[in-house]
Amino acid sequence: MNIYQHILLAVDLSAASKQVAVKAKQLAEMNQAKLTIVHVAELMPMVDVNYDAMQSLDYDVEINQILLSNAEKNLAAFISEAKLNPQQQFLEQGDPRDEIIRIAEENQVDLIVIGSHGRHGLALLLGSTANSVLHHAKCDVLAVRLSDE
Ligand code: AMP
Repeated sequence: MNIYQHILLAVDLSAASKQVAVKAKQLAEMNQAKLTIVHVAELMPMVDVNYDAMQSLDYDVEINQILLSNAEKNLAAFISEAKLNPQQQFLEQGDPRDEIIRIAEENQVDLIVIGSHGRHGLALLLGSTANSVLHHAKCDVLAVRLSDE
């Protein structure tokens, strides 16, 4: 019996992401479910802090373009190395906590697969993104327990 129809794999592209991908891939195969992958690039707002009213700087547009194109390459390499064959892939920018939830809702996802922690949460039992997604998702969430190899 297939329990899930559409699985969303969220990866921060840290070394541990592979462990999360393996589980999501297996679950998608077992359920004959659609597999979607999302990576959220966190961009750096560049501001001039020398004045009372912080002024944003023009060159942040260029730097963010470089960050995005880097993220695009890294995501493609990850998909290929993990031998994933996602039906859909999203490269978003912003806060991963909000973007993962938004993509899940807009695409009728019924299971989100994330890592128990990633780049932000090594010191915590459950990282901040994982925690937030567990609290705000309207669908099931699987937090894959990651070993810190
Ligand atoms: P964290 O709670 O930030 O330590 O990360 C926990 C998990 O949330 C990671 O293993 C990923 O599955 C997911 N995650 C964190 N950051 C991102 C990101 N930028 N893009 C996509 N997924 C993410």
